[in-house]
Amino acid sequence: MTTILGVDIGGTKIAGLLVDGHHRPLAQATLPTPSTDPVALYRAVVALIGDMLARANLTLADLTAVGVGVPGQVNSASGTVTNAVNLNLDHYPLGSTLAAELSVPVIVENDVRAAAVGAYQRLFPTGAARSVAYLNLGTGVAAGVVLNGQLYRGRRGMAGEIGHMVVDPDGEWCNCGQRGCLETVIAGPAMARHAQAALPESDVLSPADLYRTAATDSGAAAAVARVTQGVALAVQWLLMTYDIDQIVLGGGVTRVGAPFIQPVLAYLDAMRETSPLLQTLYSADLVVLPADFNAGVWGVIHLAREAMPTPTNFQR
Ligand SMILES: [Zn+2]
Repeated sequence: MTTILGVDIGGTKIAGLLVDGHHRPLAQATLPTPSTDPVALYRAVVALIGDMLARANLTLADLTAVGVGVPGQVNSASGTVTNAVNLNLDHYPLGSTLAAELSVPVIVENDVRAAAVGAYQRLFPTGAARSVAYLNLGTGVAAGVVLNGQLYRGRRGMAGEIGHMVVDPDGEWCNCGQRGCLETVIAGPAMARHAQAALPESDVLSPADLYRTAATDSGAAAAVARVTQGVALAVQWLLMTYDIDQIVLGGGVTRVGAPFIQPVLAYLDAMRETSPLLQTLYSADLVVLPADFNAGVWGVIHLAREAMPTPTNFQR
C-alpha cells in the first residue's frame, strides 16, 4: 500500500496528515511548535510522524514518502532550510536528516510554495485552472505560483516573494532591510500596529479587531483602506506578472472573512472600470482558501508523490 505523510511546520503548530495512495486520509495530528531549538523541533516532527503511523496501525516500514513544508528559504533539491527566522533554523539539513532517520524519501518545500500546490491540486481537481497563484497573508506576505501545472520556484526558490516588493520607498523599515515593503503594510503584525494605533487602550489586537473597529473609527478605517489597497495591488501584480487562471488568498488575515474580501473585490472592480487593459486581465477568479483546508499539508503530500521514482496510482 502507498502511504504518504505530509507535515506543515508553522510558527505555532506542526500539522500532519497521513494519506493512502488514493489520497484518502488515514490519520492526522498536530503538535505545538517548539520554539528556538532546532533539535527540539526536529524531534517533534519525528514524534508527530510516529504518532500518526501508530494511529493508523502502521509502522515506518509501511511509509512510502514524506513531505515537509516549512516557512523559510528551502533548497528543494537538498532539503536544506535557510533563513527560517521564526523557527531559528538556518542551513539546517532537514530533508537529509529525516530521510536518514526514517529510511524513506523526504521532500522539503517552502510552506507557501507548498500551499500553492495544495490549492492547485485540491481546489481545481477537474483541471479548471492550470496556472494558480496562492497569496498568503499571515505573519508574512508571500505568493506561491503554479504555472501550467508545475510549481515555479525561480532560480533561488524566491519566485513569488512579493511581500518584499516596495510600495512606499519612504515607508516603515522591513525586516529584510528595505523600506516600505508590501509586508510592512498588509501582514498580520502590520495590521496589529494599525489596530494598536486606532485602539491604544487595548492589549491584544487581531486583524478581526481592526476590521470591526473600522466601522466606528476613522483611523482604523484608514488602516483597512491601506490594507485593501495593498492586497488588491498584490493581486494585480500576480495577474500582470503571470497571467494566471486563478488567485487563491489564504493565511490568518483572510479569516476575517467578508469584511476583508469584499473591499478588495470592490477595489479591483473600481480599477477595472476605468481600464480596458485591466478588463481583459481580470478574467481570473479570486477565491479565499476555506479555513478548514490545510493547503500546505496537501501540497507537500502531492510534491512527495510526484517525487517518487514511479508515481503509481497518481491522481490529481
Ligand atoms: Zn521587506
